[in-house]
Amino acid sequence: APDLPTADTVEVASESRKAPAELIAREVARRRTFGIISHPDAGKTTLTEKLLLFSGAIQLAGTVKARKSGRHATSDWMEIEKQRGISVASSVMQFEYRDHVVNLLDTPGHQDFSEDTYRVLTAVDSALMVIDAAKGVEEQTIKLLNVCRMRDTPILTFMNKLDRECRDPLELLDEVESVLKIQCAPVTWPIGMGKNFRGVYHLLRDEILLFKAGEERADQEFEVVKGIDNPRLAEMFPLEIEQLKMEVELVHGASHPFDLEEFLAGKQTPVFFGSAINNFGVREILNALLDWAPAPRERDATVRSVEPTEAPFSGFVFKIQANMDPAHRDRIAFLRVCSGRFERGMKIKHLRLNREIKVSSVVTFMASSREQVEEAYAGDIIGLPNHGNMQIGDSFSEGELLQFTGIPYFAPDFFRSVRIRNPLKIKQLHKGLQQLGEEGAVQVFKPVHGGDLVLGAVGVLQFEVVASRLLNEYGVDAVFEGTSISSARWVTSDDKKALADFEKSSAGANIAFDAAGNMAYLATSGVNLKLTQERWPQLTFHSTREHA
Ligand code: GDP
Repeated sequence: APDLPTADTVEVASESRKAPAELIAREVARRRTFGIISHPDAGKTTLTEKLLLFSGAIQLAGTVKARKSGRHATSDWMEIEKQRGISVASSVMQFEYRDHVVNLLDTPGHQDFSEDTYRVLTAVDSALMVIDAAKGVEEQTIKLLNVCRMRDTPILTFMNKLDRECRDPLELLDEVESVLKIQCAPVTWPIGMGKNFRGVYHLLRDEILLFKAGEERADQEFEVVKGIDNPRLAEMFPLEIEQLKMEVELVHGASHPFDLEEFLAGKQTPVFFGSAINNFGVREILNALLDWAPAPRERDATVRSVEPTEAPFSGFVFKIQANMDPAHRDRIAFLRVCSGRFERGMKIKHLRLNREIKVSSVVTFMASSREQVEEAYAGDIIGLPNHGNMQIGDSFSEGELLQFTGIPYFAPDFFRSVRIRNPLKIKQLHKGLQQLGEEGAVQVFKPVHGGDLVLGAVGVLQFEVVASRLLNEYGVDAVFEGTSISSARWVTSDDKKALADFEKSSAGANIAFDAAGNMAYLATSGVNLKLTQERWPQLTFHSTREHA
């Protein structure tokens, strides 16, 4: 556990800046903070761009796309590092729509996939799942949905690319239900697909939205025809309408009606069909997000739960990102506000270090303007400059002792052993890895029986980042090598003797301690893990562990 200060060391927060309760309540109620979960190439970037178009945050399609391709044109880490300014700016996109403040948190995918991707999901209140309707549920979507499930995060679903030949829509719903174990409630239903894609039928409003390709601007309206029995439809495309009527009957009989409570409990997902690239069906998603997805809710902070409308400021760090210039060791800590009002220049308390910090150079994330935002409320994300004194999971308040929970570490999928070319640098290596491990850039395991340190990551880019930062910040030229390890599990037990026996047994060769001193078992294969678990029923093998 972190070294929490005791009550008598805490100073009383200044009385000078208390926002009226109604103001805070109103600001909280109009906030929506969400992330997009998807497998690479399902259309996350395209959809993000269309969402920003609606808000007027960007004027022309292609803006977000250009950033992305700029970043992906190179695989060289130092080049990526140069682009960090952009990637910091696009990690959180705040925009206004229909008098709501929407915070869209980027969940890095492709080769940027890392533990950050998972942790971002601990800072959102809802998630939008984008599925390529030609491919169905893919691997990365499954992983990310499982992370959402840890907090029962409400999920909206967008079936994308209906302008292409796709899988049968009923079959898609079936797959989501069986693979992801979440109930589907279709809200819109596609009329045809590919070359014969005509639009979507809104099951709740009994309206048909007619499809037209190539809508690059948000202000272009799609035509709406009221009523599935409208004779105009039968005139326009008689075949597809017959088919639609049959399917709608099936859907009404076979699927669940939308239920707000079930959605908010994370048990049911409303499903929309459309085509992100044509900006079709996107407005429906955005409206659902405002109408149905939750505003910031209470958060567990160990000693008590914290309501978003409480006047004192509080929040936690869920991500740390290296900044533009590696030589300056500047990093940005992303803090999710959980309660109260944050104002530029205010003093907040770093609870683990029991230190007050004055936050004057804070980064905020308005997608539309270059203006500095002066205040933030629950659900908003602020970027704090960090010179190495902030870690993932750190909590901040105006003085009250709080420790927000639910920011886990995830069992890594990739492993490297690490050694150095110059043995004289061993101390720097250990110091660097200790700090990078605490910061959450990578997981560091120290085998009990000695030998090279083992690094664990959920995405391979993490190794490149670590290698680059070891060199630039600690002057260590490290060599990473493949290992025989295939998975890791944290091991706990109330039975202290069993733990000690485990350490002394033949399994001991595969036991290591992480940067925070937790015992982990590094398995060489799935079979090896399974056998070990069977052999040691007194022990629990965890695939996640809570911070601190
Ligand atoms: P990401 O990897 O999830 O961010 O996916 P992108 O947004 O980059 O999209 C991947 C590819 O799918 C790109 O070539 C897009 O142009 C394409 N794409 C995205 N949405 C649609 C769509 O609605 N229809 C079609 N046909 N292609 C799409």
